[in-house]
Amino acid sequence: MAGGTLIVGASQAGLQLAVSLRQWGDTEPITLVGEEVHPPYQRPPLSKAFLAGDTDAESLAFRTPSYYADTGIQLVNGERITEVTLSPSGRPGSGAATTATGRALPFDRLALTVGAAPRRLAVPGSDLDGICYLRDRDDAAVLRARLAAASRIVVVGGGFIGLEAAAVARAAGKDVTVVEAADRLISRVVAPVVSEFYRRAHARRGVRVLLSAAVAGFDGTSGRVRAVRLTDASVLPADLVLVAVGVLPRTELAEQLGLECEQGIVVDGYARTSNPRVWAAGDCTVQPHPVTGEGRVRLESVQNAVAQASVAAAALLGRPAPTRTVPWFWSYQGDLKLQIAGLSTGYDEYVVRGEPDSERFSVLYYRQGELLAIDAVNNPGDYMAVRKALTQGATVRPGLAGDLGTPLKSLLAARQDAVGSA
Ligand SMILES: Cc1cc2nc3c(=O)[nH]c(=O)nc-3n(C[C@H](O)[C@H](O)[C@H](O)COP(=O)(O)OP(=O)(O)OC[C@H]3O[C@@H](n4cnc5c(N)ncnc54)[C@H](O)[C@@H]3O)c2cc1C
Repeated sequence: MAGGTLIVGASQAGLQLAVSLRQWGDTEPITLVGEEVHPPYQRPPLSKAFLAGDTDAESLAFRTPSYYADTGIQLVNGERITEVTLSPSGRPGSGAATTATGRALPFDRLALTVGAAPRRLAVPGSDLDGICYLRDRDDAAVLRARLAAASRIVVVGGGFIGLEAAAVARAAGKDVTVVEAADRLISRVVAPVVSEFYRRAHARRGVRVLLSAAVAGFDGTSGRVRAVRLTDASVLPADLVLVAVGVLPRTELAEQLGLECEQGIVVDGYARTSNPRVWAAGDCTVQPHPVTGEGRVRLESVQNAVAQASVAAAALLGRPAPTRTVPWFWSYQGDLKLQIAGLSTGYDEYVVRGEPDSERFSVLYYRQGELLAIDAVNNPGDYMAVRKALTQGATVRPGLAGDLGTPLKSLLAARQDAVGSA
């Protein structure tokens, strides 16, 4: 088999990398290998429309089956790469990968887009039937079928995926409890005011939210889960449990190759790993903060996977990197549509625009007076205004941002440093 580029992981980042290589005019062979049996598909609907039964599995596919043949991308599904070696000499980047079934895939260039896997809860009873995780299409199909038959659902983890699934389950009339170990929801990403908004909004819809609540174990009968036991000795009856307590980046191949890993495969702003012969993109990576360049962040989002894979494709071909776009993200929890632009990491001040309990409001994040990000709930106008500001290097002054009477887009102003240098 010809060498060319081997992309390990056939999902959002891996497919984008292949597509971008072709868009850049790369005519070398491309092999896209994925452990899952399904051709690359979108994950976000798995905890939203797909789980709710509003869309089917086939419609999640990114591309038609003929796309791969038409573009000369060899898609290998249902094969896990277990070993990768780089030849010490020879053509730069040349090496070979082996799948779990023993298939050998030689390559000239290697990219890892292996994503992340759900963090498992290691507590007594965690192997009982009825305890589910949600990362891939098969997980979602199982969860959807079980949800239909369940009546009492406990969601362990009050992050985006847990809350999205909780909203679907509650809308289907189920009894739903969310158990969160931290003292507020989505604490890693949003300000306390947004966490509190979600607690109240889900409670209004009939979801029970328990904060600072840790799972001690699961009880079952005949091998099936019947209850969740908390460390404070309370017991929550359950016939279905979704554990959504975050993910771990899949670094096993990177470690095998001796690449630097630190809660993810370490890459630079050009998606290069610590070995300049290997590139990586998507959920498996940690990268310099894409806006400030300070420190490293791991971003789990469609936008990042796409942007970083495009950068990787350009770097792999020795082309100038495409301009990085401002990070954005969304989470739809039933009728609560959150849109995030920018990254709020490191904020020292925030301004709330609107009344959270009206279920239409925004929070603008600042550091040293500089606009970093927005969380906009059912407020696409504010979201678009801030996304535009961040894209243009503009700002909205914190002192003005809270004024609901003035549309945010009319408050966009040049940043002080930009004014100073003008
Ligand atoms: C339920 C759910 C809802 C989400 N909702 C949103 C949302 O609303 N908005 C948003 O922006 N993001 C959302 N995300 C996150 C988004 O889907 C991810 O950020 C994105 O999928 C990352 O793409 P990736 O290609 O880096 O990794 P992944 O999508 O995880 O893909 C990695 C692939 O690599 C394969 N693989 C791993 N190791 C090997 C190996 N050794 N050999 C072969 N194949 C391998 C895996 O099987 C997997 O298919 C959601 C994710 C989930 C799970």
